[in-house]
Amino acid sequence: MSGIVEHFKKGTFEEQYWLPAHNARRVSSLFRRNKKFIRDTCGAPCWVCGSMKDREVHHVFEWSFWNALNPKKVTNILKAIEFYDEDYTDKAQAPYMLRAHIRRVEKRKPIIDTPDDIRNLVVFCRRHHRLKLTGIHTITFPIWLAISAIPARGGILTKEQILMAAERVRIIDEELAALAENNYKPNRL
Ligand SMILES: [Zn+2]
Repeated sequence: MSGIVEHFKKGTFEEQYWLPAHNARRVSSLFRRNKKFIRDTCGAPCWVCGSMKDREVHHVFEWSFWNALNPKKVTNILKAIEFYDEDYTDKAQAPYMLRAHIRRVEKRKPIIDTPDDIRNLVVFCRRHHRLKLTGIHTITFPIWLAISAIPARGGILTKEQILMAAERVRIIDEELAALAENNYKPNRL
């Protein structure tokens, strides 16, 4: 193989977005029920790394954008990504229960009409939900998508290794910043 060798790329990005008028965010009873069902009853792990630690439930299409979205497009996009495929549901403690429930909801409501629908919810650990450089809220979609398509087995690196590398660079950056500010505490790494 010739061409570009493996390398690490670093960049920053800025974002701007419009939010339609929306109701104050409230936790609906449907969200509470679905969260409990996916995470606790079915024991679904983090979608990225499979961890059972610090699991949070993420809205794929954010609540605040919902009023501006086309439910049919939302449904199609979620179907295309297929968060609840066999690879993932197999890792839940109750895979059959989870799959059967989703099938029932699909039958009853072919079009998703609320952000709190189970098909718009996915479990992430804290690290893969919100933390810098690894969380879905902190990296761009192209990067997140590429990480998501890494095979469970047999790839060049695992998702874990790739995300860990980004996280280590973050820690090193923090250490260097602390050093520059004369605020360095040894043994933090
Ligand atoms: Zn995770």
